[in-house]
Amino acid sequence: MQSLTAPHRQCVARERGPAYSAGHPSVAGALAKLREARAERAALDPQDCSRDEVAQALTTLAREQQQLAEVEVRLLRDFDRREGFRRDGCVSTQGWLKLTTGLGHAGIKRRLQRVRLLRRMPLLEADLRHGEITTDHVDAIAKHATPGRLDRIAEHEETLTALACNADPRDVRVAVRRIVEALDDGPDDPPACSDEDLRELRVTRGLRDLCNVEGTGTPLLHELLARTRDLYSTPDTPDTPVSKRRTPAQKWHDALVTALSVAIRHHSTRGAVDGVRTHAVLFADLFTLLGRDELARMAPRLSAVGQIDAETARHLIATTNPTLRLVLGLGPWLPVAVGRARRTLPDWLRGASQMVHKHCRGPGCDRPFAWCEADHLDEWWSGGSTALSNAAPMCTAHNNLKHTDRWTVTFDVETGVVTWVSRDETRRINLPPPDP
Ligand SMILES: [Zn+2]
Repeated sequence: MQSLTAPHRQCVARERGPAYSAGHPSVAGALAKLREARAERAALDPQDCSRDEVAQALTTLAREQQQLAEVEVRLLRDFDRREGFRRDGCVSTQGWLKLTTGLGHAGIKRRLQRVRLLRRMPLLEADLRHGEITTDHVDAIAKHATPGRLDRIAEHEETLTALACNADPRDVRVAVRRIVEALDDGPDDPPACSDEDLRELRVTRGLRDLCNVEGTGTPLLHELLARTRDLYSTPDTPDTPVSKRRTPAQKWHDALVTALSVAIRHHSTRGAVDGVRTHAVLFADLFTLLGRDELARMAPRLSAVGQIDAETARHLIATTNPTLRLVLGLGPWLPVAVGRARRTLPDWLRGASQMVHKHCRGPGCDRPFAWCEADHLDEWWSGGSTALSNAAPMCTAHNNLKHTDRWTVTFDVETGVVTWVSRDETRRINLPPPDP
């Protein structure tokens, strides 16, 4: 891969115009040409090529891959700025990439780190665009550029860019580590390797005795803050008597208590499955229990285990003590409901819901069940009942998205499929999570 960059290492073209200056092709036109080229590549047979042709092809391919990666950075940045993910019912570019591209967590994270870094380092971006450096150079810096360090690393942009133009990614990585050591004023930290490593929160005294809060939170902190904000801003229902309407202070209290309950649920490990307090939940068709397996429409499931055979299910029921919680279902969840007796799912029903859904059922979302609220698909205020068939767990962001963008969400009780339909008839199918 050295041959890719060696002839181009002279990094002197900063004032040069954009790489695509001669008549910007439309994105659609450019993609059509890419598809044409792909069809030609598919017909390519290395056996028909000379050794030099193969070498040339490898060099060209590597260069084109770099150029495509640079185009991808610009497209992703624009997509994120315009919140293009909302159109598909997603609440972040990360979730959208997961839903639509099939990329793994590491691939998605690497792309978004590049976007974040290049947004702050235009010289580096220009050199990537002109083919002077590779994405490996960018990734060498991005890996260390946590949000708290980004600004200070960007202060060394000129030096790092010049180095990237003239050295290997490994040399760039060493240089960045030295900068990070100096910034952190201590021994070298291991490179950030998970989203958890990015967490930081600083509370400082601001002007006029005000308080400044700055930082980067984990998805759990984001969920708790969003939940607190939403609960605080939710007014009392119109039919609440005047004497019962809450003061702002009472709303803060309720919002904080609810958000903290989510946190406690999330960290609870005793007697909990995925954050839901439970003992053991067996989910079985009534016909299974009656020994009429041929009529049963679903296989029995045991919490934290998944599908079990009918014989085992009957054995468990016959031999376990009465603390075993049993949820019966016909077809498969229809009878499991509390009607309009209460608005939220009771704990025993929440446990059953957790067995089926496992996490948020928004498109591309895997926020854990413990962070979610059971959303009435047929709204409570319009007469919807509290039932497994009418409830799907949703994180705060998806709950908000559903209401602000007016998605219609339905849940097929036969298959477990959740379908999101937007106002312009865009459909997004959310398949049930596989059994463990
Ligand atoms: Zn979600």
